[in-house]
Amino acid sequence: MRIPFVSFEKMHSEIRDELQQDFSRVLEGNWFINGEEDKRFEASFAQYIGREHCIGCGNGLDALFLSLKALGIAQGDEVLVPANTFIATALAVSYIGAVPVFVEPRIDTYNMDPDRIREKITSRTRAIIPVHLYGQPAQMDAVAEIAKEYGLSVIEDCAQAHGAKYFGKRIGCFGEAAAFSFYPGKNLGALGDAGAVVADDPILAEKIRAMGNYGSMKKYDHIYLGNNSRLDELQAAFLVTKLKYLEKWNQERVRIAARYLGGIHNRHIILPKVEAGMEPVWHIFAVRCSTRKQLEKAMEEKGIGTNKHYPIPLHRQKAYQQLHIPEGAYPVAEEISRTQLSIPMYYGMAEDEIQYVIDVLNEYSPE
Ligand SMILES: *Cc1c(COP(=O)(O)O)cnc(C)c1O
Repeated sequence: MRIPFVSFEKMHSEIRDELQQDFSRVLEGNWFINGEEDKRFEASFAQYIGREHCIGCGNGLDALFLSLKALGIAQGDEVLVPANTFIATALAVSYIGAVPVFVEPRIDTYNMDPDRIREKITSRTRAIIPVHLYGQPAQMDAVAEIAKEYGLSVIEDCAQAHGAKYFGKRIGCFGEAAAFSFYPGKNLGALGDAGAVVADDPILAEKIRAMGNYGSMKKYDHIYLGNNSRLDELQAAFLVTKLKYLEKWNQERVRIAARYLGGIHNRHIILPKVEAGMEPVWHIFAVRCSTRKQLEKAMEEKGIGTNKHYPIPLHRQKAYQQLHIPEGAYPVAEEISRTQLSIPMYYGMAEDEIQYVIDVLNEYSPE
């Protein structure tokens, strides 16, 4: 049996006609940026998450960057980010001219460890970016408490967790601003690059929108040194269609995750922990194994696609060598990067495929 790490085949074949109608409508409408499709998507996504405003933009990295910029984070400021995340979280901070300061994750949930945040706060700390990594909500109560105590802005990185809930409330409702990516492989993905910010404060929302539109709210009237990062009408149209199915697709991920959590029993394989109050949407199903390389090979030989999220922790990336953070500085993040393996998780996995993945994992034994 061959099981890819990810596949869009069933997801897209079931809605092919609708997507083709979206394409025809935009083509015939002759309006490609900042139009009705954008408005429709922004209204439906804001409503889905439960916030007042949604601002479409070019991608998830820009959504973070525009949020930081609109919140006034600037050169010399420090922003706390998890040590275990995709590099975009930290890059957005670097693009502002601010310094990303890494916080250790927890080994069991993979998310930022609330007990390790305070030790990284200095007089220059301005903001914190919790990431709902792999689709599992971060500990937002603890983050909010610390942010309040030190007067920090909170910007959520929701790129991997569209629809996840924290004590009954959707993630994306907790920070002053929350950034989403609609990169094709995300739980809600466009057919290309796309992103959005959600927020409640109308002044902040307006500023974020202006920042991504050449610093302008009125044509040829520029009040900020802005960027160009807007959501294409075509992508907005696809996203309106795909948003209608997000709950269905997420429920399927939840079902597959429950099968994995209940079916995988192997003392060499550590399963992710789901804490009380968390309703993850399983962007990634991450296991850990001290003999990862062997496990990876064993799965490959059985035809199962896997991936690593992420093989090099941020503080050890060459791009961040100027921070001079030595190996060993973040032992938990380093342990995760050495042992983590992502297994297949997507809408459209057949029952026998799920069972096959479970069987192969249960049969695994290192030499
Ligand atoms: C994908 C991702 C981003 C960036 O999104 P893009 O749309 O690729 O720019 C940011 N943060 C996290 C955690 C991501 O997984």
